[in-house]
Amino acid sequence: EKKNVGVVFGGKSGEYDVSLLSAYNVINGINKEKFDITMIGITLEGKFYIYKGDVEKIKTNEWINDSKNLISDFSLFDGDIINNVDIIFPVLHGQNGEDGRIQGLFEMMDKPYVGCEVLASSVCMDKDIAKRIFRSVGIPVVDDVLVFNTDIETDKLLEATLDRCEENLPYPMFVKPVNMGSSVGISKAKDRDSLKEALLKAVKFDTKILVEKGINAREIEVAVLGNSHPEASYPGEIVSCKEFYDYEAKYLSGDGSRIDIPAKIDDKIIEKIRTYAVKAFKAVGGSGLSRVDFFLDKDSKDIYLNEANTLPGFTNISMYAKMWDYMGIGYSDLIEKLIDLGFERYEIKH
Ligand code: ATP
Ligand code: MG
Ligand code: MG
Ligand code: MG
Repeated sequence: EKKNVGVVFGGKSGEYDVSLLSAYNVINGINKEKFDITMIGITLEGKFYIYKGDVEKIKTNEWINDSKNLISDFSLFDGDIINNVDIIFPVLHGQNGEDGRIQGLFEMMDKPYVGCEVLASSVCMDKDIAKRIFRSVGIPVVDDVLVFNTDIETDKLLEATLDRCEENLPYPMFVKPVNMGSSVGISKAKDRDSLKEALLKAVKFDTKILVEKGINAREIEVAVLGNSHPEASYPGEIVSCKEFYDYEAKYLSGDGSRIDIPAKIDDKIIEKIRTYAVKAFKAVGGSGLSRVDFFLDKDSKDIYLNEANTLPGFTNISMYAKMWDYMGIGYSDLIEKLIDLGFERYEIKH
């Protein structure tokens, strides 16, 4: 019997646009012989709709004006539309999608869903909390200084915070709001002036900012898949066309960045990275999927875990999908596996 998958897209998030692309690909890539789809769109303002129109209009963001194909008067908790959905696939990135909030809603709806649960999602969304957990299980992470919005609210405090960063970390430093993705709000600071600017920029996105030692690094990513027995793909490498892998390099400058799958690194380092990826996934209590990102220091060859993304970019040419493709699991099969894992977790927990 065909299962109905509720694909959720958009979202009240800085990564709304990225979600539209991911969801467009998921809807097209899903095996229609095995699954029916209910499209659930969330606007940038956070309003939920059932969408019955053309999938192309998701990609172009025209779905929102396609009023004859939008249903707004439905309940997430009852009614034919939602009762018909067997499992939810949140194809959302960033706040309200990747941070455990909507996963909490799915729990309250008592629906199976794809991907990490509330805790793993929220832990990974907060780069500071996530690093504390990775550190605690012996996974190396980059040195950092934690800054709160209140640490920079006056000129005097700001100067003292700049001193604290300079006392603890060499330049260049990376400054990031702890709760974002797609490099939004992140800057590389090469001196005190740019550090100041970077802090003032980051604080627009979150009340907590992480200042990190800048690593002259190769960027290596691993795709993790599974529930209690997660598996790690071979790592891939991203060679950014820019100073660092910022929003523009990720989504706007076309094929300026290069991807190598598998990453051309020593077998020993590959195995170390894959082991860390699985260990990190387990440490945060992950389920379903995560893309775990690493830095490989070009000079010292040291490995650092940078972050775990519980709902990574999910187009058919995104790193996560490409790494599994290399491992022999094509895009449609990958989607199906994730759906199966969502059902499996639900059954174990209920
Ligand atoms: P994603 O889109 O993968 O979720 P993100 O917004 O969560 O990314 P990070 O991965 O933490 O942000 O940082 C974005 C990019 O900034 C990295 O891919 C890397 O190019 C650069 N970067 C971040 N931190 C450092 C660091 N400590 N040293 C060197 N480069 C860094
Ligand atoms: Mg991230
Ligand atoms: Mg992300
Ligand atoms: Mg990243």
